[in-house]
Amino acid sequence: MHIVVCIKQVPDSSQIRVHPVTNTIMRQGVPAVVNPYDLFSLEEALRLKDRVGGRVTVLCMGPPQAEMALRKAISFGADHAILVTDRAFAGSDTLATSFALASAVRQIGRDMAVDLVFCGKQTIDGDTAQVGPGIAKRLDLQLLTYVSQIDAVDPERREIVVRRRAEGGVQVLKTRLPCLITMLEGSNELRFATQAGIFRAARYPVQRWDSKAAGIEDPSRVGLKGSPTVVRKVFAPTPNTQRADLISCESGTPEDLAATLLAKLTTRNPELAALLGRAGMQETGR
Ligand SMILES: Cc1cc2nc3c(=O)[nH]c(=O)nc-3n(C[C@H](O)[C@H](O)[C@H](O)COP(=O)(O)OP(=O)(O)OC[C@H]3O[C@@H](n4cnc5c(N)ncnc54)[C@H](O)[C@@H]3O)c2cc1C
Repeated sequence: MHIVVCIKQVPDSSQIRVHPVTNTIMRQGVPAVVNPYDLFSLEEALRLKDRVGGRVTVLCMGPPQAEMALRKAISFGADHAILVTDRAFAGSDTLATSFALASAVRQIGRDMAVDLVFCGKQTIDGDTAQVGPGIAKRLDLQLLTYVSQIDAVDPERREIVVRRRAEGGVQVLKTRLPCLITMLEGSNELRFATQAGIFRAARYPVQRWDSKAAGIEDPSRVGLKGSPTVVRKVFAPTPNTQRADLISCESGTPEDLAATLLAKLTTRNPELAALLGRAGMQETGR
């Protein structure tokens, strides 16, 4: 079984600040980390490899320093790492990013057919959650989003059964391979890197692919040229100054609670008081 895990190197969001004048994100001096959501995907891929065997290839599109993210994945047990890096990718939005990554997955599949692609639920910087579905669409893969658990996988029958968090419950879904899964946070706990893994990661020759090697024939589909999204403004939202009120009611009966609440609301909002007065409701608290 060949599993590709897409991992993105992102600035550590806990240390990002927004420039007070230009409203742009200040990345200088901010350490880079593997997108935390992608670590859940990586762990799940490694667990599947432990169960059914095969190969885990990690894939990242980013600047040369993103190689560190891939080495980290190798130290945990990934078998191969490919960094798709080219000046032509600068300024890529989610459309161009998913196009480039889909193309790279296609190239990876030439060596050994890809059965499963993992993405994180979203990144902590771009935060769009669009790249995974974008790759699935381009590669015509079945798409399973918000997956919290993989119940079974059968590489012979080309089937996979997963649990997916849905509104109001959990869905158990079965689909055919190959497919793309976006993994939920908290779905597993990442293993520790072994000493052997750390040594292997330090020596591992990460493959670097430029846009040609990634199979991109038309450079106008990546980078700024291939990115129709325009970011008009980035800003830190104004903190909400409103505070919740604690309303206490001594008797604790629903009627008294309703009357106390109503009294509070009508004191604050005379229009509501007048309306309720006209309807004859204010006194009884109904
Ligand atoms: C107009 C515009 C210009 C931009 N210019 C730049 C720029 O110059 N430099 C820059 O760094 N960003 C830039 N961005 C941001 C960049 O487009 C996004 O970060 C990128 O498209 C991924 O989107 P996302 O972070 O929302 O990923 P999501 O869709 O939230 O990611 C979901 C999952 O997809 C996978 N994934 C996402 N991106 C990658 C990746 N690069 N490699 C491997 N796996 C990935 C991961 O598994 C991730 O968990 C720009 C965005 C716009 C709109």
